[in-house]
Amino acid sequence: MTNLKHTLYVVATPIGNRDDLSGRAIKTLQSCCCIYAEDTRHSRPLLQYHGIDTPMRSLHEHNESARADAIIAQLESEGSVAIISDAGTPLINDPGYRIVQACQIAGISVSPVPGASALIAALSVAGIATDRFLYAGFPPAKSMARKRWLQALVQQSCTLVFYESPHRILASLADIADVFGAERELTLARELTKKFETVFRAPCADVLQRLLDDPQQQRGEFVLVLAGAQQTDVADHEEINSTMVTLLKHMPLKTAAKVASELTGASRKLAYEIGVVINNAE
Ligand code: SAM
Repeated sequence: MTNLKHTLYVVATPIGNRDDLSGRAIKTLQSCCCIYAEDTRHSRPLLQYHGIDTPMRSLHEHNESARADAIIAQLESEGSVAIISDAGTPLINDPGYRIVQACQIAGISVSPVPGASALIAALSVAGIATDRFLYAGFPPAKSMARKRWLQALVQQSCTLVFYESPHRILASLADIADVFGAERELTLARELTKKFETVFRAPCADVLQRLLDDPQQQRGEFVLVLAGAQQTDVADHEEINSTMVTLLKHMPLKTAAKVASELTGASRKLAYEIGVVINNAE
């Protein structure tokens, strides 16, 4: 029989500044019988800093499914359990949803202890509309796949939010400028709540140039907040797309891109990339 008093707590931890762990998060973590952490070595200093000595076990993407039964048994017999990730809110590009789902199925209550998440922190200082946004996570690692993935978002009129790592920030920014246009407004939010926090908003191409000019700015963790498409951008994209669909029925990709560029005024490169997406979709 499920003990309804026991709860799975999904606890957000700081994204950089250790003092951003909430009072309720501290109390919850202290009172649970076990904390499941994405990486126990990573989380230990934070827990020690806040005087939390609850036993910890690991819960990462490779053992999440295997751990579910044991966690449910613990919740049913021992007490409440918390899950935390390396930074921010668990389940947001982090492990945890399988455990949450397993608990729901088992009739165990699941409760959030909200706190930091890099995407919300970035949106709160981006200076770009936040009434509607699409959190898209990490763009694919390889440029071809990334461009195709970005192309699929080009007509979205809501704000777009991406995560990115230092290894790919330059390549991703270059692709974003190519696909969305050099003038599309972008906020780069880097190392939020940490010593070298940087937030700036500029056209995509200028953001890329600023990072190229200052390699220090290429380091750390990034959230990219991209303004949504204006109605005119959507109309332009639709025109290039339909022109390319027609032309590709009659001529090779390269020629079609050249003709579409002359007909619509779009860059040959953009017409070509849209053509690649059309060809791949067939
Ligand atoms: N669960 C986390 C959350 O709620 O934001 C996200 C985890 S995801 C694996 C890690 C990514 O989040 C980083 O690669 C980076 O894109 C973003 N991120 C995390 N901390 C950040 C920070 N302090 N500043 C900027 N971006 C951050």
